[in-house]
Formats: sequence, structure tokens, C-alpha cells
Amino acid sequence: MVTISKMTSALKKGTALILALTLLLTLTACQKGGEQMNDQAKEKTQEKTQEKTTSQNDEKKYKIMATSTMLTDLAKIIGGDKVEVKGLMAAGVDPHLYQPTAGDITKLQEADMVVINGLHLEGQMGEVFSRLESANKLVAEVGKSIPEDKLLSFDESPHDPHIWFSVANWKLAARNVTDTYIKLSEKDKQYFEDNYAKYVKELDELDAYIREQIALVPESARVLITAHDAFNYFGEEYGFDVRGLQGISTESEAAPSDVRELAGFIVENKIKAIFVESSVPKKTVEALQEAVKAKGFDVAIGGELYSDSLGTGAAETYIGMFKENIDVIVGALK
Ligand SMILES: [Zn+2]
Repeated sequence: MVTISKMTSALKKGTALILALTLLLTLTACQKGGEQMNDQAKEKTQEKTQEKTTSQNDEKKYKIMATSTMLTDLAKIIGGDKVEVKGLMAAGVDPHLYQPTAGDITKLQEADMVVINGLHLEGQMGEVFSRLESANKLVAEVGKSIPEDKLLSFDESPHDPHIWFSVANWKLAARNVTDTYIKLSEKDKQYFEDNYAKYVKELDELDAYIREQIALVPESARVLITAHDAFNYFGEEYGFDVRGLQGISTESEAAPSDVRELAGFIVENKIKAIFVESSVPKKTVEALQEAVKAKGFDVAIGGELYSDSLGTGAAETYIGMFKENIDVIVGALK
């Protein structure tokens, strides 16, 4: 029995070797090999062989890290099956204030490509970005894709980072990410280009939807008052007078004089509604509502807008988020 068992074992080992070689050559052999080999040692051989076969046949996915939730969505759409995208920031997180952890820095350093907004949106990450640059990391910085004359500047910040609230800008961001993907993997150029073309079509449809909905709001009522200045590109692109309580970044607190001034503007222009933002505390907008009330006028809180972060459900994507925002804005102001 012992001898037979040894012989069988030797035979099986032989078989395993041949199978292992076959597995390297064809994927279909994997299944057959699995059926024939039962014993643990051989299963291990098979696993190892399968790993090799998998890496040879199914290409490895590039590891991509993105900062904001909008960029994570964009990187996933253009990269498709070729990439595995992870975002640093979760839904509802304020990118101006986000402090990268040691783990985040490691993930960024180990990624094949990094997607960032820049223009100081990621206000606490400047040093981390400099380190990536020194290390020659492949970085898609979408802020750089907006021509200088299209960038809005303000007192506190040389350039307004909230570029995504103009669909035209977002198409440029998508182009930037596509070009950087092509640098990462030239052989997948057509794949990325196809994803880009498909996405641009969807963005054009989104843009048409936004314009259609805004047309329902009387021109005099196209005033958007929110917690911070995230919607200036929106105002520029779609003809809204936009006023934020906190300035470009949420780092600065709204001064009581700003609240009083804006309250005066609301009363004077009989603004129907003001809006809170999902990634900014509601208290400043509520204080504004109170200040308006003190002047003998009632302004409603028209709803919650996504500003610097995507949400959940339908708002998990850039397109879904923008549609929800438009529905809230138009619903409250028309
Ligand atoms: Zn912001």
C-alpha cells in the first residue's frame, strides 16, 4: 500500500507538473487541472500556476488614487476596467479642510497615477502634492486644464477651485484625465478615448437638462445664496447671481457684517430661498435666515445642495449630483 501510494504520489506530482505547464499556456486547462488534482500540496501548485496565468491573460489593473468624490467618479468612468480607483475623501467630506493621514500619503505614493483638483481645493495637501511632484508621480491635475481666462479669481484666492459647476469645465477635466491615462498606458488609448467620448455625450445631455430647467426660473429670481462660494462657475455659465456666506474656502468664518449685508440684499430683492450645503455646517445659513427674519422678511431654506462633495444614491455620481442640485434650486426659486 505504502509503495503504491508513493508511486501514485510521484505519478500525481508528474501529472501536476505537466498540468502546471499546460495551465501556463491555456486558461481552459485550469478547470480540468482543478478536477484532477485533489491533494493539498498540488492545490497549492495549481493556485500558484493560476496566479501566473491570470496575470498573463487578464491584465493587471492600474492603481489610481483620487482626492475628491467628483474626481473619484471621473477617474472611474474614464478608466473603466483598466483601473482600480480609490478616493481619499468620503461623501460629505469638506476637501478644503481634509487632512491626509499617514496611510493616505502611502496610498498616494504607491499609486500608478493620482488625480487631484488643485487650485488649492485640497487646502491641507499642498506639501503632499509637492512630494508627489518631486517623486515624478504621474498626476492628473484637472484645475490645470481650465484656460487661464476661464478661471475665476477672487480676493482671498488667486483662482476659484470649484471648477466642476460648469459642465464645460468638467469636459476639460475629463479630457485631462483621459490624456493622463494615455500617458499611463498608451496601448489602451482607444479604450480611454471611447470612454471619454461616451462621457462627453452624457455631459452634453446634462448641460441641456440644466439649461432647460433653469429656463423655468424667472430671470429676476436667478439668485443663488449658499453657505460658501462654491457656485461661481455655475453662476458664470448659467446666468445666476451667486453669493456665498463664507468666501471661496470654508476655512474662513462668515463675519457678522457679511451676514447682515447679505440679509439686507435678500430683503431688498425679496429672495424666496437660500440653500445649505451638504459638506458645510448649516449654522451660518441658519444665522442668515434669522438675520433676515429680524428685518421682518421670511426667506426659506430651499434645500440642501451638494457643493464640494458628492452624496449617496442618485447623487453618487457627478451627473446625478448636478441633476439633484438643479432640481432643488429650480424647485425653490421658480
Ligand atoms: Zn468649496
